[in-house]
Amino acid sequence: MTQILDGKATAEAIRREVTAEVAAMVEGGARAPGLAVVLVGEDPASKVYVGSKTRACEEVGMVGRTVQLEESTSAEKLVSVIDELNADETVDGFLIQLPLPSHLPEREMVSRVAPDKDVDGFHAVNVGRLWLGEGGFAPATPSGIVELLRRYQVPMEGARAVIVGRSNIVGKPMAALLLRENVTVTLCHSRTRDLPAVCREADILIAAIGRAGMIGPESVQHGATVIDVGMNRLTERSAVEHFFPGDAKRMEVFERRGSTLIGDVDFTRVREKAAAITPVPGGVGPLTVAMLLVNTLRASKIRQGLGE
Ligand code: NDP
Repeated sequence: MTQILDGKATAEAIRREVTAEVAAMVEGGARAPGLAVVLVGEDPASKVYVGSKTRACEEVGMVGRTVQLEESTSAEKLVSVIDELNADETVDGFLIQLPLPSHLPEREMVSRVAPDKDVDGFHAVNVGRLWLGEGGFAPATPSGIVELLRRYQVPMEGARAVIVGRSNIVGKPMAALLLRENVTVTLCHSRTRDLPAVCREADILIAAIGRAGMIGPESVQHGATVIDVGMNRLTERSAVEHFFPGDAKRMEVFERRGSTLIGDVDFTRVREKAAAITPVPGGVGPLTVAMLLVNTLRASKIRQGLGE
């Protein structure tokens, strides 16, 4: 029987633990941790993400704040907002919701965030700390995956992992975090030769590509653990029928919304071979916000001199 790795339930457990720690901090006389999210413009998907981050903060007893700026905001203005947040003692962590409008230089803006408040873990200092094993903040999505593997007791020490995708927010930090767990790591990308053959070597296969259902059973070794980071929308009925044959619930969602969410893994066919697999939705997605809360809690404890 293939085990379904339930990211939603794991994220809820993490949030309950964070809630208890925040309550204990406040009871002990400390300030509740504060997270600010800077949103530039009106991108609907970004608004949804920002809303879910600040709501999640409030639900665990933290102070969540959104700094909404107009689409036309200049780089100078954004820099001054970042500097204010860097100096604000009630803000333990903050992040700039990406992507930024095209006139704003993303790397430059992310580099302006004080590394000790960079709970996204995107600042070069935190990237360096991660690879050096010097603490700092690691990006939430790969951190959530390690947490999921740990809690489901998927053996990591000595295992072989193949990660498909080398982005700065998922693939690369994923490699660093797995190395820390003594996993043997292979990082693949669009130029990898014979990708299915490389993937078949994996005990743990992680897909972070951004292509609907690209990883099929030919890429999976019997008994592998498969983690699907991808979030893609299917908008064609024929594609829904292909990936979810006979799945009335999916079809109902598709009829109602005009689309349905799918990962980078062809879940229906791959689950036959995998020992364990994450679903989409309900897999990696919910863990991302939960781990942002974990990073914010840690930032706050450090800032308030309460250890880590
Ligand atoms: P990027 O677009 O930044 O990176 C995609 C990676 O996939 C690149 O390294 C690219 O290779 C590689 N790739 C693309 N096509 C192929 C191919 N045909 N064969 C092999 N490799 C390929 O994506 P992200 O890392 O930002 O995101 C990946 C997916 O994860 C997306 O669906 C995104 O929505 C989702 N995501 C989900 C999150 C969550 O919370 N669940 C959080 C973050 C992302 P190359 O470098 O050579 O171009």
